[in-house]
Amino acid sequence: MTQTVSRPAGGAHRPPLPLDVEAIRADFPILSRTVRDGKRLVYLDSGATSQKPRSVLDAERDFYENHNAAPHRGAHQLAEEATGLYEAARARIADFIGAAVEEVVFTRNTTDAVNTVAYALSNAATAKEPSFRRYAVGQGDEIVVTEMEHHANLVPWQQLCERTGATLRWLGLTDDGRLDLSDLGTVVNERTKLVAVTQQSNILGTINPLEPIVARAREVGALVLVDGAQSVPHQPVDVAALGADFLVFSGHKMLGPTGVGVLWGRYDVLDALPPFLTGGSMIEVVRMEGSTFMPPPQRFEAGVPMTAQVVGLGAAVDYLQGLGMDRVQAHEEALTAYALEQLQAVPGVTVIGPPDTVARGGAVSFTVEGIHPHDVGQVLDDLGIAVRVGHHCAWPVVRRYGVPATTRATFYVHTGYDDVDALVEGVRSAQRFFGVTPEEATA
Ligand code: PMP
Repeated sequence: MTQTVSRPAGGAHRPPLPLDVEAIRADFPILSRTVRDGKRLVYLDSGATSQKPRSVLDAERDFYENHNAAPHRGAHQLAEEATGLYEAARARIADFIGAAVEEVVFTRNTTDAVNTVAYALSNAATAKEPSFRRYAVGQGDEIVVTEMEHHANLVPWQQLCERTGATLRWLGLTDDGRLDLSDLGTVVNERTKLVAVTQQSNILGTINPLEPIVARAREVGALVLVDGAQSVPHQPVDVAALGADFLVFSGHKMLGPTGVGVLWGRYDVLDALPPFLTGGSMIEVVRMEGSTFMPPPQRFEAGVPMTAQVVGLGAAVDYLQGLGMDRVQAHEEALTAYALEQLQAVPGVTVIGPPDTVARGGAVSFTVEGIHPHDVGQVLDDLGIAVRVGHHCAWPVVRRYGVPATTRATFYVHTGYDDVDALVEGVRSAQRFFGVTPEEATA
């Protein structure tokens, strides 16, 4: 593709990228296909779901071709091998986030992990076992979220409040896309049972300061759940440093397969929670009169698990560790700085979210004056550029900033400056196509 991008005065800021983009692209089979009549695929939608390197695809295929069996059951060799691979992946994922192995619960995705905690907290109120009632949520209690949450970390808490009579409260946002912590001391108070907050916004890119939130929650004895769906794939995350009680994330956003996610919980907290889903694999003794449950993590893994996907996620973690999460983060920071500079140099483009790279990850949402985001997305798609348009499952955020929707570009390990250039040139094409020239847009 010819580079026809106009540069802002003073020239573009393009320091060498920390990752070898060409070498990494060669690891992702899908990036060698073309789209829309032979155009190079410019994949800027990793925030929705990431593409998968060959090693992840191979790990899944190898599992099905050579080891497929239900783990933790059966007395045969394949069951033994499947169990070994499943538990080895758990150990690798635990190591990746600095956790103890028995604190890592496999779920379907982030959504499933949040619901597991939300239902455990409401089931706790009526649990027969007294040790399961410690964190019960009921009438008069409060749950705190933020206005920045993905629906996955908002709707389950609304539903928990409806089931239990608890009240939902939230921290608002500042005009420049950051959490407004000015009323933290009153919103999080003695009635607060749990604070649920995202580490990185999927729409604004904002990386939230978790320290004061965790500290305030500790003061009032509340639990803290961190939504790591957009942070764990993109920056080093260590659960000991976080100081929270739960961390949830999705495999499919971190180069792993769909159908597997993680609920990390502090062991003593997990151990004091009743199960959400019940059935096989999570029981100790079953009688017709009632059953007892396994300790964590098995208590929260009812049924035959998504074994091949867990094995694939183990391979994804290996791949990311091979690159180094510090370098992954630095890579995305450089791309984000470049994208912000280039996009904001286009008259008519407004970035929704922090305008600079301070405490900010690689999700860049923007509007183009005079063109609906869906139309921007359509023009970009015709050019082979995959972005996300809409409210990004964070409807309160677009409402807060008074826009119907945004166009969002998200970056990952295979993203290069050429992808950002293609995006910026695509936005200019959309302006030309809709007859909204930069001059008109700013008039
Ligand atoms: N939280 C955040 C911040 C997200 O970006 C997403 C996915 N877009 C989710 C939660 C939900 O993840 P999943 O759909 O994999 O459950």
